[in-house]
Amino acid sequence: MTQPNPQLLANIRIVLARTSHPGNIGAAARAMKTMGLTDLVLVDPAVFPNSQADAMASGAVDVLAGARVYPTLAEALADTRLALGVSARRRDIVAEVLTPPEASARLLGEAQAGPVALVFGNETSGLSNEELSLCQGLVTIPANPEYSSLNLAAAVQVLCYEIRQAWLGRASWPQPGFESATGEEIENLYTHLETALAELEFLNPGSPGKLMLKLRRLFSRTRLAKEEVNILRGILTAAQVAKRAAGTVPRNG
Ligand code: SAH
Repeated sequence: MTQPNPQLLANIRIVLARTSHPGNIGAAARAMKTMGLTDLVLVDPAVFPNSQADAMASGAVDVLAGARVYPTLAEALADTRLALGVSARRRDIVAEVLTPPEASARLLGEAQAGPVALVFGNETSGLSNEELSLCQGLVTIPANPEYSSLNLAAAVQVLCYEIRQAWLGRASWPQPGFESATGEEIENLYTHLETALAELEFLNPGSPGKLMLKLRRLFSRTRLAKEEVNILRGILTAAQVAKRAAGTVPRNG
């Protein structure tokens, strides 16, 4: 059998959102390195860099040193083709809930084409609605229902282990079949959608309700291709142009 491709593991990003305890960041770096993952991204960590993080990372200080820090999750996911939120709950926001082995197969398949991400939440509050709305699916570790909340770094270890087992198990993965849109392209689509819907007076910016969240949920049930995002944005632009033109034509001739 041909060897599994190390680039696939290199393309799987572990994102820790708003981590409170620096020790968990170090322990997560160690969990990653033991399973061959190296791309660690921190979003607005409470304390970093920090000696506790270094101590908990042990021999994985190189992963810690290579970690990139971003102020927002949207920036951390801008170049990713698939982002899965890791959460024990909150199934209401993202439609698709995957098991760790299902998530691993999806991530490895998509990692053939470019960076993908697993997003972990804050130790106390988990992932916020806003953070989850940037993910295209949800992964839940099927833990004891009476006590299902793992320590953050333990959750990172479980997912990285599953990814490694899947990776070791086969040398090639089905190709995605089309070019997925990146996180940034999808966010730009939502921004365009919101502006256009306000212009078309379908959305009231003063009282938007949950419309944008519902539309995000709709699109998160499918994986948008780059080309499909371009078509949708073309339709929005055409509607905006028509609306603006209609606004300049006097009624009744
Ligand atoms: N009280 C928080 C728990 C946070 S634990 C909550 O209820 O959301 C810190 C992080 O570890 C979570 O945000 C999630 O990313 C991960 N995690 C812990 N237990 C998990 C589980 N059973 N399934 C999936 N992710 C889990």
